[in-house]
Amino acid sequence: NDEIRSKDEALYRRKKTIGSTCQIFYEKDPFMVSQASMQYLYDENGKKYLDCISNVQHVGHCHPKVVAAISKQLATSTCNVRFVSHKLTDCAEEILKTLPGLDTVLFCNSGSEANDLALRLARDYTQHKDAIVVDHAYHGHVTTTMEMSPYKFDHGSSLRQPEWVHVAPIFDVYRGKYRLANEDLNNPEKLEKAGQVYADMVKDVIEKAEQNGRKIAAFFTEALQSCGGQILPPPGYLKLVAEYVRSHGGLMVIDEVQTGFGRVGSKYWAHQLSEDDFIPDIVTMGKPMGNGFPVSAVVTTKKIADRLGGSVGYFNTYGGNPVACSAALSVMNVIKEENLLDHSQKMGELFHEQLNELKKNHDCIGDIRGVGLFWGIDLVKDRETREPDQELALQLILKLRKERSILLNADGPHTNILKIKPPLCFNADDVKNTVTALDETLKEMNK
Ligand code: PMP
Repeated sequence: NDEIRSKDEALYRRKKTIGSTCQIFYEKDPFMVSQASMQYLYDENGKKYLDCISNVQHVGHCHPKVVAAISKQLATSTCNVRFVSHKLTDCAEEILKTLPGLDTVLFCNSGSEANDLALRLARDYTQHKDAIVVDHAYHGHVTTTMEMSPYKFDHGSSLRQPEWVHVAPIFDVYRGKYRLANEDLNNPEKLEKAGQVYADMVKDVIEKAEQNGRKIAAFFTEALQSCGGQILPPPGYLKLVAEYVRSHGGLMVIDEVQTGFGRVGSKYWAHQLSEDDFIPDIVTMGKPMGNGFPVSAVVTTKKIADRLGGSVGYFNTYGGNPVACSAALSVMNVIKEENLLDHSQKMGELFHEQLNELKKNHDCIGDIRGVGLFWGIDLVKDRETREPDQELALQLILKLRKERSILLNADGPHTNILKIKPPLCFNADDVKNTVTALDETLKEMNK
């Protein structure tokens, strides 16, 4: 029983039995979860923390309706997709309602698997081999997706950028190749221009690849780059890139593993945020889909899906099992019943307002970026040079945990961006408490 065994014992045994490279939050003083409920986590002493980290437990830790749906199906059958079940098709139909223009679902178990399958679909359909990804992207931990993740290149492992992967500059108007002045970061005209400039950079990448005899099967991106620093594509970017990629015979793959299921408020998917009529060729999803139960999917069109695999087809032992589908179905039901898109949108407006105020009072905040319940606070040493302040991010994370019982993490290529991505049941008081805690802590630190 975890409750009556000490954290020291868990850490000691972990060290002996688990790979030392397995990542862990709060490395110097890891957090042990004794219990979890909605937007709260409890440590080994039963102390309660507000959780701003767990985007996977999307509708709330241990949400009773999701737990009930999983338990009921677990006691009924766990058989794989080679047996017919209504749960599979119920789930597929529910997903497709949110993605007009797409009509076919293939189930997997993780975001990495979904992206790997998306690449295979694109290759089989286009008969091309290569992929374009944007700089700092992360698309998963299996070998192909690691090779498509510049976020993981050049860290001293055997991993190198292979010749079939091309990297386009990240569409970042704050720290990317084409930047806007501080006062223009929200200027619609300047942003539109940036959309064009960054899309043209993708066109250059395609043309250069073709000059070298390479052919693009797919362009992969998130519609709000998450691990890579909480970057929203400027308006028009996705549609322009889609035009360029498709005109060269490639497909548009949108990775919604972090950003889907209403995380961004108002819309189910991040790619629907600014461009209603933009329809990707393939969408991948995972993380929040099962509220913690492993399930993921690739959604596309019949014409693309039917070309997969020649005569070997697709089979995945656990992908689309009825327990996973029950979990996903109940998550989508809870989103509807609890009006979570609307809620996420409203909480996003509160964050926007309150984080803007926070930024006015603290020079160490260079930029705030986000939407819905997905925010990044970009910490800098200097607002003009925008030099990232990784050390401050780390100090804040530790202080918030210790002094305010708030769990927060940092991300981005410089690990200087505080990430706020709590379960969607996070409420207006939680928004206020989090921003107030940041404000008071920064004041105490004279920042
Ligand atoms: N794509 C994105 C954007 C992700 O953030 C992640 C996980 N952080 C993945 C894919 C991989 O998902 P998983 O860890 O479930 O394999």
